[in-house]
Amino acid sequence: MTKPLKLAVAGVGNNISALLQGIYFYRQLIQEQGESSLPGIRRLRIGGLGVADVEYVAAYDVHPNKLGEDLRDGALASPNNYPRLAVELPPQGVRIEQGLTEDGAVSRSAIVKSMVDSGAEVLLYSLPTSLQWAASEYANAALEAGVAFVNCTPERVARSGQLMQAFEDAGLPLVGDDLASHLGTSVVHRALLALLQERGLTLESSYQLNFGGNEDFRNLRDRGESKRESKLNALAQAGIPVGAVEVIPSAGYIPHLRDNKVAILNVEGRGWADTPVSLDLKLKVQDSSNAAGVIIDLIRIAAICRRLGQPGFPLAAAAVLKSPAHGHGQLTAWMIEEAEQELDRLASKA
Ligand code: NAD
Repeated sequence: MTKPLKLAVAGVGNNISALLQGIYFYRQLIQEQGESSLPGIRRLRIGGLGVADVEYVAAYDVHPNKLGEDLRDGALASPNNYPRLAVELPPQGVRIEQGLTEDGAVSRSAIVKSMVDSGAEVLLYSLPTSLQWAASEYANAALEAGVAFVNCTPERVARSGQLMQAFEDAGLPLVGDDLASHLGTSVVHRALLALLQERGLTLESSYQLNFGGNEDFRNLRDRGESKRESKLNALAQAGIPVGAVEVIPSAGYIPHLRDNKVAILNVEGRGWADTPVSLDLKLKVQDSSNAAGVIIDLIRIAAICRRLGQPGFPLAAAAVLKSPAHGHGQLTAWMIEEAEQELDRLASKA
């Protein structure tokens, strides 16, 4: 049996509430009906790790409602507003510790020591978008602690040549940047634009507007620039002329939407004889389930690569990232699938 992966988390927000509760949801389902088919899972096993094989060993936050609480209680505390799933959720036996702050009140070495003592294999970085200083500081803490790093945010970590080199030199995986959510606006938008291209129509203009009622949308309303750039990266991978596309990461924070995200997509094009076509689409999703549905793959990839001694950026992660380390460039779905299978082969021999 594959050992569960030991996870440390920085930022106990909605993503972590969705991940933690979801893992108990699947644990219960596996007990009841086995593992052969699970709803909402992209890959049942990665390198032998199942979706329920996660053990939380450390957690960091700065919010007074969360500090000092057991991870379970912190994940359910306001302002988090991911719904409470109908599953039993025991305390995790992990106290949420004071995270790093920009004024340096907590030293990086304290976080490094805490991670080393916890036996963490992976640090999942899940802070509000736009805190580049924090993303770099937590990545350096992971590096010093000998822990793999997964960046959920659009801040430049895996795309920083310097950090990538340092992780490679230390023999550690570095996974990022920015989640491409399970059925997120980016993947749906990209598929529509690629379809237009494949059918030989001309793209005239397109936009995506995103609305939601969680903290992420509140933050992105005022600090969305790095997310906008990352969302355009996600679209560029299909060779789409992104100059014709406008993306608004948070067109509005609407509290009563809570953790639901609503996206409005519009595509205007020209077809046969230069006549117009117009397409409007509305997508509504549970925003943080959409994140957890890919975080579960990224943390398993990071843990397996660390165990196998495969440093740097794992190609297998590229399918579920908006801004992967070396860009989407010439990456094809086939190359990524090959990388995923190779990871499984290596893990089965280890
Ligand atoms: P959130 O705002 O609910 O949670 C962020 C948490 O980080 C909060 O608990 C906050 O107190 C904590 N925090 C703030 N500063 C901190 C510090 N210095 N140290 C430790 N903790 C600190 O956000 P979320 O919805 O969980 O999203 C997390 C990140 O994931 C965001 O940057 C978001 O843009 C990104 N993301 C989300 C999705 C999605 O589908 N929901 C997709 C892609 C990327």
